[in-house]
Formats: sequence, structure tokens, C-alpha cells
Amino acid sequence: MGNSLEPIHVLVVDDEENIRDGSERTLSSIGFQVFKASKGSEALDILSGNNISIILLDLKMPGMDGMEVLGRIQKMFPAILVIVITGYATVQTAIEAMKQGAYDFIPKPFEPDQLRMVVRRAAEKIRLVQEAENLANEKRRTLLDLHTEKSRLHTILQSLPNGVLVTNAQGRVVLLNTAFLKQLDLNPDSQPGKNIEDYIPDNNLCNLVLEISRGKHVALDDIPTYEFALSDKKYLLARGRPILSENRECLGAVINVVDITAMKVLDRLKTEFVAKVSHELRSPLATIHAQLALVIQNIVASAVQVDHQILSRAKEKTRGLISIIGDLLDLSRIESGIICREPEPVRLDDILRNVMDFLKTSALGKKQSISLEIFNEPLPMVSADPVALESIFGNLISNAISYTPEGGKIHVRADLADAHIRIRVTDNGFGIEKRHLDKIFEKFYRIKNEKTRYITGTGLGLPIVKELVTSMGGFIEVESTPEKGSTFMVLFPVSMQSGD
Ligand code: ADP
Repeated sequence: MGNSLEPIHVLVVDDEENIRDGSERTLSSIGFQVFKASKGSEALDILSGNNISIILLDLKMPGMDGMEVLGRIQKMFPAILVIVITGYATVQTAIEAMKQGAYDFIPKPFEPDQLRMVVRRAAEKIRLVQEAENLANEKRRTLLDLHTEKSRLHTILQSLPNGVLVTNAQGRVVLLNTAFLKQLDLNPDSQPGKNIEDYIPDNNLCNLVLEISRGKHVALDDIPTYEFALSDKKYLLARGRPILSENRECLGAVINVVDITAMKVLDRLKTEFVAKVSHELRSPLATIHAQLALVIQNIVASAVQVDHQILSRAKEKTRGLISIIGDLLDLSRIESGIICREPEPVRLDDILRNVMDFLKTSALGKKQSISLEIFNEPLPMVSADPVALESIFGNLISNAISYTPEGGKIHVRADLADAHIRIRVTDNGFGIEKRHLDKIFEKFYRIKNEKTRYITGTGLGLPIVKELVTSMGGFIEVESTPEKGSTFMVLFPVSMQSGD
């Protein structure tokens, strides 16, 4: 058999040696492996040890009767195809043998061609049976694999520590896992199939899931994130992605929910700790600063130059520390939810002047010119928290001073534009590369390069400014060119205007 890898084993059982040898020659020349037996008992021995598929069996042999051998073979090896060899006189026997289950017969004497044809036909049949069996096995295995794969995925999903919820394009829940039910304090036996509102008690999150299910947020880097609290003891973070088909049609949404309660508690502890430590540090530092200022004055009076320099540097450092502590206190205030104190009627021009006065010494120390220009004077009174406004402009102007080299120019300009009060703080300092522009408003983000290396800071100033400005209904923008300078622009709606 040319197309089979393993040669098919054929056993020739005949008492005539020349038939056995002749058959062996004919069949091995076309790829069969041939075994030979001269009598029935010998045949049965060979059968038990060699994977025989086809038997050529002479029915008329001395010793065991051919029919009896056939009967035994069929009982013990039902898959073997038996071709009986018969003489003309025993056609009747051949028919009998066929009735008993022999596959075919070949009358004796036969030509090699006849033998080849009969055995090939049997081999073909074996091959077909084998193929059908392989197919059936394959199918069984595939089904089993599919089943195992499905239950494996199911087990993995159920064992995930994170909550998982899947919706279809209509926003109906089609799958959820145990962790999700536990996180949302739902009945552990809840089944999918209902609308999203039946599982999630937060309307904003439900709307977000619906939006994702209907094909919003398909961009790869758009991973909507939503934080919500089930109680003051349980905080959850949900992240969602659309499920897209091969042709990018939205089939639904998959939502991953993480319990962030521990993180929240830690965050709160950190904020409380920072607030406490900052408070403890602030007043002794302020005292040292004031005392240093006093000593410096006295030294100037008595004209002792060296100590003056050392002490001035120490005073400058304490000022830096006080400003860092100010940032930390602002941050803890914002994080604990108290963004601004009670608003009161204030004049922005006054605030700006006070801040400029306070920071003038640092600018002059760097031989910088610092100027304030107020259009539309007096600016309308606004209702706001003066401390927050001081913090906003204190941060922007002190940044302008810090990130502008000696001899630079800092200009602050306030005017009215499109129902907004607009304040621009411009410097001709180091400027900011485009790639940093978004990031400088993130907490603790500082640009590190040769020029900024020795400038102390926390990376908290701008995030605080942004948080305060936004909480007042305003917004902040920045334009900057490296080596040329930067302009930070704050816009407050005139509706902040106070009636007084
Ligand atoms: P800090 O000044 O404490 O580092 P900020 O949040 O105030 O923190 O500023 C973040 C970063 O933005 C700074 O480290 C600085 O690199 C850059 N930056 C802020 N203001 C300016 C400015 N006027 N000119 C150039 N760079 C600035």
C-alpha cells in the first residue's frame, strides 16, 4: 500500500509451500509485510503476536479444519479481514465461508494479478475503516477539548480575584463572576440576564457601561475608569473596554472591578500624616525664619559681612521649606475634600499686589524685573477664598521666578476678556518642552534637566493651582517655548463677581 505509512501485515495460511512463497513474493513487492503459516495452529500463534490486518486462508488444510480456523479468528480478532482460498470444487464452501463472515475469496490456482487485486481491495477497505475511525476519534477529541476549554475558562473567570461583568450591545448583563457579586454585595446566586441597573447601584457607572456597550470609547488607549463607594467602608474602581468583533463592530462591554478600599484607607492615613507633620513643622520653621531675618538686620547694622551671607542663605532655605510645607498643607486640604474655605468678597488686584510684594525680594535677589499691569482697573470684586487665590498666584509667580535665570523678566497682567477675568503670568525663562506641558499638572511631576537641577520643589504647586482654579469654576492654560519663556493664563468667570 503506497499511501500508508505503516505497511499492512498480511498472513498467508496454506499448507502448500509454493502458494505461501508465491504469495509472499507478490505481496511484498507491492509493500505489504507478509507472514506465513502452514497450518491453523501456527496461524493462531502468529495472529496473537503480530498486528495482522488481512489473512489469506486456505480452507482445505490437514489438521485443523479451515472453517474452524475462520470461526476462531472471527471470534478472537473480529477486525481482521479474511480472504479464503478455495479450489474450484469447493466454491460452495467459499460461499459458506462468506456467509460466516469471510471478507472475500480467491479461487485456486490464482495469478499474481488476481492476488494483488483481491488483497488491495481488502487493504483499501481497511484504510477506509481506519480513516473513519480516526475521524471519529478526532471529533470526539475536539468536542472534549471544546468542553474542557469552556469549563476551564469558566473556572478561571470564577476564580479571578477581580470582579468581571460582561454586557451585550443593549447593555444587558450576559456574564458575571463570583468576585463581582461579592464586591457589590449582591446575592451570590444572582444570575446574568437582567439590565445593568439591577446589578450596579450607581447611575453614573450604569451610564458609562451603557456608553461602552453601545460602541463609545473604542480607541485602544481609551479605558474609562470610574471610582465609586458602596459605603464609607467600601471603595471600588471600575474599568471598562468595549468588546469588538473582527470587523470592529461593538458587541458589548467588559467591566473589571477592583476593590480599592485598602488603598483609600492608606491614602487617607497618608494625607492625615502629611497634614499633621506639616503643621508641626510649619510654626517652628516660621519662627526660625523670622528670627534669622532679625539677626540679619542687626548684622547689617553692625556691618559684619561673612555671617550676613551665611545667614541670608539659611533664611532663603527656610523660605523654601516654608513654601514646600505650604504645598503639602494645601494638598492635604484638597485631598480631605476641603478645597476652598468660605468665599468672601475680595479684590483680585489687591491679592495680586500682596503676592507680588511678598515675592519681590526673591525676584530682586535674582536681579529679575517683576511688574504688574492691571487693565480695567479696578477689577470687579469677586466672591472667593482669598487664601486659595494667594496660593494660586503665589505658586505661579514663584515658579516664574524660580524657572527664569538671573536678570530675567516676570510680568503679571490682569484684564477682562469674554466675561472672564484673565490673569497672565509671563516670564522669559527656561520655558517648557511640549512633551511636558500636560504632565506638569500631575502630582509630583517635575522636569529634571541641567537648569532645573538645583531648584527645590515638590511638583505639587501646579496640581494644587489647577485643583483650586477648577473648584472656583475657572480654568488654566499654559503656553511655553523652550529657552524663550512661558505664560500661565488663569481665567475666572465674571459670575464669581461679588454683589458687594
Ligand atoms: P515644583 O515647582 O515644586 O517643581 P510645580 O508643580 O509648581 O512643582 O511645577 C512642575 C514643574 O513644571 C516644575 O518642576 C518645572 O519644571 C515646570 N514649571 C512650572 N512653572 C514653570 C515656568 N514658569 N517655567 C518653566 N518651567 C516651569
